[in-house]
Amino acid sequence: MLQTPDYAAMLRTAIVQARQGLAEGGIPIGAALYHRDGHMLGCGHNRRVQEDDPSIHGETDAFRKAGRQRSYRDTIMVTTLAPCWYCSGLVRQFNIGTVVVGESVNFAGGLDWLRESGVTVIDLHDSECIELLGDWIAAHPALWNEDIGVD
Ligand SMILES: [Zn+2]
Repeated sequence: MLQTPDYAAMLRTAIVQARQGLAEGGIPIGAALYHRDGHMLGCGHNRRVQEDDPSIHGETDAFRKAGRQRSYRDTIMVTTLAPCWYCSGLVRQFNIGTVVVGESVNFAGGLDWLRESGVTVIDLHDSECIELLGDWIAAHPALWNEDIGVD
């Protein structure tokens, strides 16, 4: 029998990454790529501000840190926030089987599209994630709009 992975423990890794980004003066969004057997392949966080690079989202950072994988079917992308279109596209491109999000309150991203595409989506509706980013958005509305591509 397949055991359900410990999604809450995986989310902890992403939250630690988000807090590290916040400590660096960046946007507090973190992510980790796991194999469904529970071992972590890579983790990272949004570094738009730190690296002056709009392409480094939590998910893309974790994905790159994980290096080459033969298959992504049995991997789980865990992120503190619902993935944007860009990161949802990454999930589809590489056939990542499962996406676990800390929350989709501050931003719903491409969750419906991922579900319609057959990706298993689990929303943990985690209050720490909601608060961490919600507080940050309230304090940095212009930077937030820049990150999500709103003029
Ligand atoms: Zn993204």
